[in-house]
Amino acid sequence: MPAPIASELAYIRFVSVENMMKLVHSIGLETMLKDLARYIEDDFRRWEKFDKTPRVASHSAEGVIELMPTSDGEDYGFKYVNGHPKNTREGLQTVTAFGLLARVDTGYPELLTEMTLLTALRTAATSAMVASHLAPKGARVMAMIGNGAQSEFQALAMRAICGIDTLRLYDIDRAATEKVVRNLKQKGFDLVPCATPEEAVEGAQIITTCTADKQYATILTDNMVGSGQHINAIGGDCPGKTELHKDILARSDVFVEYPPQTRIEGEIQQMPDDFPVTEMWQVITGVAKGRTSARQITLFDGVGFAIEDFSALRYLRDKLHDHPHYQELDIIADPDDPRDLFGMLQRARPVG
Ligand code: NAD
Repeated sequence: MPAPIASELAYIRFVSVENMMKLVHSIGLETMLKDLARYIEDDFRRWEKFDKTPRVASHSAEGVIELMPTSDGEDYGFKYVNGHPKNTREGLQTVTAFGLLARVDTGYPELLTEMTLLTALRTAATSAMVASHLAPKGARVMAMIGNGAQSEFQALAMRAICGIDTLRLYDIDRAATEKVVRNLKQKGFDLVPCATPEEAVEGAQIITTCTADKQYATILTDNMVGSGQHINAIGGDCPGKTELHKDILARSDVFVEYPPQTRIEGEIQQMPDDFPVTEMWQVITGVAKGRTSARQITLFDGVGFAIEDFSALRYLRDKLHDHPHYQELDIIADPDDPRDLFGMLQRARPVG
């Protein structure tokens, strides 16, 4: 990485929600999901290079606020994200986020961005990238349980990366399912709204659970899961917030991002501390096996890890060269003499 020039560091690039929407349309949503999956897979391949820590969570009765930092030694990134399942009742989103990328050599930030949309994109790209390694060959049908903010992105990534063309939809709130049907009806899916979760999982090779409720919920019971299915369980991502009955975990092969975080937050919080899991980076690098038989139940206990956000930030920085949807943000002090911060303050002294 070339040394920075001081004048270049006076401003950082800022991607607002408005500019993120423009960027997604100018790149193309499905292209972006595929690109993000590639960036995430590349970073999983160099997993051992990263500083890793479970995210730093601040819990309240209503939800959680989290910081998710990581670094590969050259860049440093973090995301601020919340999870408040009750928010939608008040017209607010369950998940909102923003993130930052900085240079390790100077510690100067380079990029600040909205990450609510980017989180939905990176979560969907991660789910589909993982499913491309674990789902049964030729999977076409996905059950989508929980039809909230993440769901259309999950569906589109699973189609772009894994070839899913049929969606069996279920949500306790019928209006959520109707929203997905409305949003995806021109997108070439076979859409099947279902009256129960049992109906939704019928004939599905992939089951995605993406519900929001701050409790030990049982979205899937053991009898609903058949041999050979791949479960993409991404809604349970906090202590005390799970989606699957533990009997499903006992008869599945469970794959995770970063075990120290997943054991706190994932479905496996219901299991003993030494419950065996396989890390996805090891499957991707060929160190560990993924799906080994057509009858095996594979379960991705996805909670969302900082490296996925780092990959998304890295991708965004690269794309801003050709798609300059950003503003310059005056967030770094730039005194003429680095030690004369006081002198810089005088620039804004009222005249007269
Ligand atoms: P959302 O509030 O927009 O949607 C959640 C949906 O789940 C709602 O439509 C709700 O009616 C439905 N639901 C709740 N209980 C249900 C049940 N028992 N059966 C069926 N449907 C039910 O939330 P969202 O932004 O789509 O996020 C969903 C979940 O995914 C949240 O818990 C969030 O924290 C989690 N999440 C995980 C990751 C990750 O990386 N793993 C990333 C983003 C979000």
